[in-house]
This record gives sequence, structure tokens and C-alpha cells, in this order.
Amino acid sequence: AIFKIYMNTFESLGLSQEILEAVKDMGFESPSEVQEKTIPILLEEPTDMVALAQTGTGKTAAFGFPLIQNIDLNSKSTQGLILSPTRELCLQITNELKSYAKHYKNLNTVAVYGGASITDQAKQIKKGAQIIVATPGRMKDMIRRNIIDISKIDICILDEADEMLNMGFFEDIKEILSHSPATKNTWLFSATMPKEVAQIAKKFMQNPKEITIGKKNVSTKNVTHEYFIVAGRDRYNAMKRLVDANPDIYAVVFCRTKRDTQKVAERLIEDGYSASAIHGDLSQNQRDLVMKSFRSKSIQMLVATDVAARGIDVDDITHVINYQLPDEIETYTHRSGRTGRAGKEGTSMVIITKSEIRKIKQVERIIGQSFVAKELPTGDEICK
Ligand code: ADP
Ligand code: MG
Repeated sequence: AIFKIYMNTFESLGLSQEILEAVKDMGFESPSEVQEKTIPILLEEPTDMVALAQTGTGKTAAFGFPLIQNIDLNSKSTQGLILSPTRELCLQITNELKSYAKHYKNLNTVAVYGGASITDQAKQIKKGAQIIVATPGRMKDMIRRNIIDISKIDICILDEADEMLNMGFFEDIKEILSHSPATKNTWLFSATMPKEVAQIAKKFMQNPKEITIGKKNVSTKNVTHEYFIVAGRDRYNAMKRLVDANPDIYAVVFCRTKRDTQKVAERLIEDGYSASAIHGDLSQNQRDLVMKSFRSKSIQMLVATDVAARGIDVDDITHVINYQLPDEIETYTHRSGRTGRAGKEGTSMVIITKSEIRKIKQVERIIGQSFVAKELPTGDEICK
């Protein structure tokens, strides 16, 4: 506890001048809890680590800073590997790492993910990539084709480990890691710790240090959770009312399937709302375009599947709308974590039918917070 008092500046964590400079450029004033707890440990000595903290708590820098500082810039060989569940997330992490490392020369980070040209990615890697940020599927492919050599990596990071396992990447991860040296250190970052993650920690790590940031952390306290009971056939109209009552809404709307995602987005657009769908049936190009227009706020509502929206870090999202609850209740944490980021306020709204109330109770247990039962806004409230 005493440590905590003294470790509340970036300067006190042991970071290099180059990184401290970048921290300043990014406008980060003080480290988040997960950063404060993991960075000194990861910088001090080689170790395996399991770090659990909710979305929006700054995990990327928590592993990114120590990773960058561990890279030997005199060598071009691949020294660090980050596995992450989706292409969007790979690109996002890569961009973040680039801004963390902008005061270093000769540090190359390459993103490797499916749906884009393997040849282009191979070319970039040939030029020397000390850090590779990859989705497990494409990474496995590249290793099988001998395009990537991870036999000399020092650090392997499993980011959003819970989600990678949810998406069925266990076998791919196992195969990838079998090509890495036993001497490397593995850092696992996750929002939740289902038993599959515990198993992975047990299988691939040696005496990992464990950091858990409590459920009631800054990011969750900023999020208000509300539910609205409607008849199943009224779901869409209920959502429209919620949106109408919040004209400045900047939201992610989550649906359970790609089909619903597409349908809901199309209906919103037909009804004159500013919305766009993102899901796995779109090409990588289309997905990039949609993300770009959402980030730039050219569209107000991103209608998304859980997979497509996973980990997306867009600031200022005012609302998360759960058009339907997720199949896996734990996914709710990830959804609601899209809002209330970096200390801002946010609202996560859930549209349910009467029979789903018991699921709300389950969610409450998982997030350690209560929902507010709300009535749909009336016509008067919408017009004012
Ligand atoms: P997570 O991976 O835990 O979901 P991210 O690493 O994506 O969280 O960070 C969430 C947001 O918070 C990002 O926009 C990031 O730039 C910002 N952020 C991270 N660390 C800090 C900090 N120490 N101070 C201010 N903002 C931060
Ligand atoms: Mg993250």
C-alpha cells in the first residue's frame, strides 16, 4: 500500500526518457492502476505475468511500455510478439505502439492479420520487425510458411486472452507458442478470468506474477447500467425511442448475429439515422472504412457484432446499446466497457424481454454493479 502512494507518476515507474517523452505527447498525466502495478514489475526482471483489468483501464500501455523498453534496437530480429483477437485490435495496438515508440529510431512494429495481403505483410517483416502484433489465425499461417521466425522472441503477450479463447483460438495459440523458445516470458492480459484463461496460464506460464485490478475500478464506476423491458417485437422501436431521447448520442449498438447487425443498421439508415454496420461478412476494406467514419464521428451509431467491436477503443462513446443481450453473459463486460473510457461518463442500455430479467441478475453479479430499471422515454420527453 505504501508503494502505491509513491508510484503515482510515470517518472517513478522506471520508464525511459524516450517513453516519458511520448507519454507527455499523448497527454497522459498519471499512470492508471493497472499500469502502476504492472510496469515496474515488467521492467525490473524477466517474469511471466497474468494481469486482469477491465476494458478501458489502459492495458495496452501496461504491456506496451515495458515491451518497447525491452527491445534491443541493435538487432532486427523479432523479439516481441503480441497476439490479439481481431484485425481491428491488431491495427489499434500497432498504432498505439508506434506512438509510444515515436522517440526511438529503428524500432519496427508490424501488424499481421487476416483479410489483407500476405505478401505485403511478408515484405514488411523481411525488412525487420522487432515487434509483431498478430491475430492467431494469420500468425499460424505465416509461421507454417516460414515467413515469420519467433524462435528468438523474449516476450510474448496474449492480449484480450479471454476473448481469443472465446473465439476458439486455443489450438492456434498452442501451435504458435510451440515455435517460441521456452525461455521467453509470457504476459497475459485479460478483462475476465474464465477457467479457459486459467488453464492457459497454467499450461504456458511459469509462476506468473498476478495482478488483479478490482471490479469496482474507475472505468466501471463511470458507467450507468440501465435496462428496458419491452415485448420482443418492439425491440427496434424501443431502441429508436432511446436514440431519439438522446439526440447527441455517439453509440455502439450490439446485436447477437451478423444478420441482425446488418438488418438493424439498414433499418436505422432507412429511418434517417446516422448508422453503419460492422461485422465479419464485410471485407477488411469495408470494415476499415466504417471504423474510420465512426472514429471521425461522421456516423453516430456503429451497429456491431461482439467480434467486430472487440477491443475497439474509441473515446467519447456516450452509450452502449445492447439491442440483445450477448449469448455469453461475460461478454457484457466487454460491451459496456466501450463507454465510460478514460474517466468519462457513459451509459450502457439493455433492451430485454420480461423473461430475460434473470439474465440481468447474472450480469449484475459479474460486473458487481446494479442495473437501474427504466421506462422507455415518452413522446413528451423525446420532443423537448
Ligand atoms: P484496455 O486495453 O484496458 O481496454 P486501452 O489500453 O485501450 O485500454 O486504453 C483505453 C484508453 O485510455 C485509450 O484511449 C488510452 O489512450 C487511454 N489511456 C491509457 N492510459 C492512460 C493514462 N495513463 N492516462 C490517460 N489516458 C490513458
Ligand atoms: Mg486492450
